[in-house]
Amino acid sequence: MISVDEAREIILSKIERLSIEKVPILESLGRVLDEDILAEADIPPFNNSAMDGYAVRFEDTTGAWPGAPAELKVLGDLAAGYVPESPVGKGEAVRIMTGAQMPEGANAVVMVENTERTDGGVLVFSPVRPGENVRFAGEDIKAGEVALKRGKKIIPGDIGMMASVGKAIVKVVRKPRVAIITTGDELVGIDEPLAPGKIRNSNAYSIAAQVIDTGCMPLMLGIARDTREALMAKVDEAVGIKADMIITTGGVSVGDYDFVKDILDEAGEMVFWQVAMKPGKPLAFGIIKEIPIIGLPGYPTSSMVSFEQFARPALLKMSGRSDISWMTVEAIFQDPSFMNRTGRRNMVRVVVAKEDGMFKARLSGPQQSGSLKPVTLADGLMVIPEEVEEVKAGDKVTVELFEPITG
Ligand code: AMP
Ligand code: MG
Repeated sequence: MISVDEAREIILSKIERLSIEKVPILESLGRVLDEDILAEADIPPFNNSAMDGYAVRFEDTTGAWPGAPAELKVLGDLAAGYVPESPVGKGEAVRIMTGAQMPEGANAVVMVENTERTDGGVLVFSPVRPGENVRFAGEDIKAGEVALKRGKKIIPGDIGMMASVGKAIVKVVRKPRVAIITTGDELVGIDEPLAPGKIRNSNAYSIAAQVIDTGCMPLMLGIARDTREALMAKVDEAVGIKADMIITTGGVSVGDYDFVKDILDEAGEMVFWQVAMKPGKPLAFGIIKEIPIIGLPGYPTSSMVSFEQFARPALLKMSGRSDISWMTVEAIFQDPSFMNRTGRRNMVRVVVAKEDGMFKARLSGPQQSGSLKPVTLADGLMVIPEEVEEVKAGDKVTVELFEPITG
């Protein structure tokens, strides 16, 4: 049996980043940028007002207070999107809106709240400092500066930055296309009636959802029946459509109908492991016609946990990501006791809540590999290291979160 870390390392060592493509910026969200994005001009492009108020010379407001306001002549109104017509001179002001370009001569903006309009003028009740309430040209980014660095995972703010520098199309790492093949004579489609001895093919959907959640595209190849030929036909189909990765579920145990290993042995380069993890001991990995293939176990929870540990990091590496690690929290275990006498790393489905400023973890339900319900209730996986035989109430544990905890 090999360790979870060893298995993951071997898989990652065989995975390479995909090629580059150009996409409209909205399609780049969540993907890895493959070019430096430069600002051709200053952002903001001109000095502008950060407030609704009056553009003034700060010198004219010195010493102003409600008992002795400064009185300035108002030259006109200036809305965002228009250019100032005349400069502001001594004793003068321009009514200015947020984002409007500063008139020449003005060097600060008085908030409208600190003023009172009069006939043809304005009373200013408090002084402003030079540059107060002004956003200066290039304050955000200077012309020629790198606005976004190559290799960055693109977040919504980056899309805004691309738009503000006038970038419509960007170079990104291609999105992995992942063929999903589920195996089993017991499986029926989700829209088919159940017959005796049959179960619905839930894995195809949970794994596809994980693929989407990893920023990749699932290719639903359906069910391969438990024969060598049926499985080979599906694998050929995946090769035919040039999938970037093939993921199978089921058929990786040592039963009479478990063909994943045989197929890969025949057609590709195959590694089969017993991984020291619970759930999810059996795992197949190989390369077939240059396509990496990961054979996940059949039980719904085992397949999902194995996806998290092995397929997700591999897909992230393909996507160009280098920051491959889980979001974890340290939590206090709340159930009386949880035994782990397997010598394997135990990934326990838990609910995490923040109470009294601390994270607390509780089992989300029974921990059978076949039960999906505790997965739907869980916030993450509590990691019990191989050598730890028991976790007791009050023990500090590490939880790999499915999503950032908010409550
Ligand atoms: P296997 O490893 O192929 O023997 O699968 C183990 C068990 O996992 C099966 O007996 C099913 O109960 C369950 N299973 C396998 N494939 C699926 C699937 N696609 N959807 C839901 N459950 C599955
Ligand atoms: Mg099976």
